[in-house]
Amino acid sequence: MYSGSGPPVSQKLRSAIDSGSPDDILSKVYDRRIMGKLTAYLAGVKWHLIFGATGIIMRTAANLVTPLIVLWATNRIIEGDVNGLTITALAYIGVLLFIWAAQYLETLHLSYTAQGILLRIRTGMFSHLHKLSLSFFDRNKVGKIMSRVQNDVDQLQNLVSQDIVLVAVNLITIMGIAVIMIILHWQLALLALSTIPLMVIIVVIWQTYARRAFILARQAIATVSDNIHESVSGVRVTQNLSREAENIKQFETVNRANLEANKKASLLQALIMPVTQVLTDGSYIIVLLYGGFQVLEGAMPVGFLLAFLLYIQRISQPIQQLATMYTEIQRAMASGERIFELLEVQPEIIDKPQSGKLPPVKGEIKFQGVSFAYGTGPEILHDISFTVKPGETVAIAGRTGAGKSSIASLIVRFYEVTAGEILIDGHNVNSVTQQSLRRQIGFVPQEPFLFSGSIEDNIRDGNPEASQAEVMKAAKAAGVHDIILRMENGYATQVGERGGNLSPGQRQLICLARTILLNPPVLILDEATSNVDTNTEGIIMKSLTQIARGRICLIIAHRLSTVTHADRIIVLEHGKIVETGSHPELINREGTYYRWYKDLDLNPS
Ligand code: ATP
Ligand code: MG
Repeated sequence: MYSGSGPPVSQKLRSAIDSGSPDDILSKVYDRRIMGKLTAYLAGVKWHLIFGATGIIMRTAANLVTPLIVLWATNRIIEGDVNGLTITALAYIGVLLFIWAAQYLETLHLSYTAQGILLRIRTGMFSHLHKLSLSFFDRNKVGKIMSRVQNDVDQLQNLVSQDIVLVAVNLITIMGIAVIMIILHWQLALLALSTIPLMVIIVVIWQTYARRAFILARQAIATVSDNIHESVSGVRVTQNLSREAENIKQFETVNRANLEANKKASLLQALIMPVTQVLTDGSYIIVLLYGGFQVLEGAMPVGFLLAFLLYIQRISQPIQQLATMYTEIQRAMASGERIFELLEVQPEIIDKPQSGKLPPVKGEIKFQGVSFAYGTGPEILHDISFTVKPGETVAIAGRTGAGKSSIASLIVRFYEVTAGEILIDGHNVNSVTQQSLRRQIGFVPQEPFLFSGSIEDNIRDGNPEASQAEVMKAAKAAGVHDIILRMENGYATQVGERGGNLSPGQRQLICLARTILLNPPVLILDEATSNVDTNTEGIIMKSLTQIARGRICLIIAHRLSTVTHADRIIVLEHGKIVETGSHPELINREGTYYRWYKDLDLNPS
């Protein structure tokens, strides 16, 4: 059935369930902790909830009354009471009006309630994600986070806006009908309700099978979306490697597995419906026969029988609905669990209560015996010590993976050192507020990021108060002014999502302009010129020499041509400093740097 190599996808999915990977475990159908947390969000939508709940109670109660009206009407007909019949008909219209009003109240206000709660949860998640430390994003894939924010909130939306209401309505209806039937005629009521215990047993057994089938179906569709996501993001590489056929074949496999999983789920769904229907129909027939004979013998008014039959019809739908909603609710509870779990993740890097602001930086950056490892990984920086004096431009050179970017991340405290300390003007970066630290450090990361908006907006992010002239001045200093002017709309050119319509070099230069506009006392450029041609690089280096004046400037580079101008070069190898000195000094020493320089590039390709 499955094409493609490796174990069939359904088998993979099944082993994922057996290993109980956290995303796939269905939650309890009622989780007090989650419901408790949801209620914490109710405060702001209290009135909508009260109106909505009133609507539900009104509607359900009125629905319970309608068969009774049929009963009265039948009795009036049999008695030939025309006035009574008219009054009963009017009463029926009254009840219907009441139901319509209740429905309006319920639908509108419960949807406002759900939307209000979800707005708060979404905003909460969004701002919480912004507070989390980078190590969190190292551990969690962006795709997974996105799916939490979107799918799980959608699931929770179903829970809040539909499921809870349906469960409430169904339970009230079932209990209300049972009570009314017992009051009307308890023997007939017992007959009518006799099939319910059997129905409950069947549904419980069915659940154990259905649950598994539904998890498989859900995982299968997740695999399909993962596959689409990966293939579409890698479409350039795919076309270049002519991998299309392979990808399509792989996709067909997961897509088919999805179909199979869903077929199974549908089969189970299709089975439960008629089974519960058979039982309700059974009790319908029993009541019809028994009640019919009672009516024939004159022991029961015909209206009684009619009302009973109507009640049996009305009780079957909520029971069926509860049975099929079970899995749905478990799934929503699981989503709720994941959302609240995410909201509870504490940022690892936090301002200590005693942290003060970092005063305006004038002095130096000092690394003292700094060692560092990402999470529980291996140590990648070993006993690093160096000082960057005020007004000095220091370059860090080293091969790919030597630890250059990690040094930059530590200065802005995206991560914390495992040993040693980093001091700025004598203040440990760990004991000042993150905001006061990062405000003073202009950091152009290795993978520059632009937001959607115009180029001018993106540069102005560095300093929202800057005038247009200042924006242009920064762009000139970054060597990107002429490039922008050559674009169709100049500074108003819209940057696509993540800057997709610009070349990597252009993006890098715009980021550089943004940082220049920030005008920070400390400037860290991580490979800021790695994507531009040597000519442009020359222009930038010249203006950087000016920009660097009076600032602390740390330049990280692959290309040695970018670092030769630096006052001092720190040569990093496997996370250790092997040499430091100015370009001529290092050349004279004829060590590692000299050998690299002879090859002209650190990473000859
Ligand atoms: P390049 O010149 O390619 O930019 P680099 O010198 O900047 O390299 P770093 O990015 O500092 O190197 O990486 C140093 C080491 O740390 C590498 O071995 C890398 O595998 C590891 N590393 C980098 N980032 C992470 C991360 N987020 N989580 C775990 N390990 C990481
Ligand atoms: Mg790097």
